[in-house]
Amino acid sequence: MKMYDVTGTIHEGMTVYKDKPEKQPKFNQVTNGYVTETRLEIDVHTGTHIDAPLHMVVGGDTFETISMDDLVGQSKVFDLTQVEDGISKKDLESFDIQKGDFVLLKTKNSFEETFNFDFIYLTHDGAEYLSEIGVRGIGIDTLGIERSQEGHPTHKTLFANNIIIIEGLRLKEIEQGEYFMVAAPLKIVGTDGSPARVLLFEGLR
Ligand SMILES: [Zn+2]
Repeated sequence: MKMYDVTGTIHEGMTVYKDKPEKQPKFNQVTNGYVTETRLEIDVHTGTHIDAPLHMVVGGDTFETISMDDLVGQSKVFDLTQVEDGISKKDLESFDIQKGDFVLLKTKNSFEETFNFDFIYLTHDGAEYLSEIGVRGIGIDTLGIERSQEGHPTHKTLFANNIIIIEGLRLKEIEQGEYFMVAAPLKIVGTDGSPARVLLFEGLR
């Protein structure tokens, strides 16, 4: 069995969505005598994280509604590193995607460490296609699953179909194939998302 950690590292000065300074995490470390305690100030969408419907839907479901049963289990990594812009239905049709799959999209994003404003994203028709199939969740290797799409149709389509969204995966080392995934977010209540540690296991079922 081999384990891959596909989580981004959280630190001050890390890559954040659209390089917005207000999205930078702050580590406030205080040492009193020999006791050190760090207070974290971070956006729930920092680094590798899971979105809850509240993120894009007013009054939407909050983070605790996402079941760990859906975050632990088989996943399929698909190689979309040839895609230059948005991942559409056409790009996905050739893959073996089944109802209930947790689909992880490996793109050129995984090979970049800085924020690319032209990152590869999932188009609305790609989101509709995966919704029709009835996948359990979708993970992508950038901090946004859609890119400046008016009205956020990709997020809304996926949330409307109860599809979990993981953003900010790091899939450079991961080859296309099936992996057992453990996506473990904070056990947090009432938020629109949570950072998560995401591990992929090869040879475990
Ligand atoms: Zn997010």
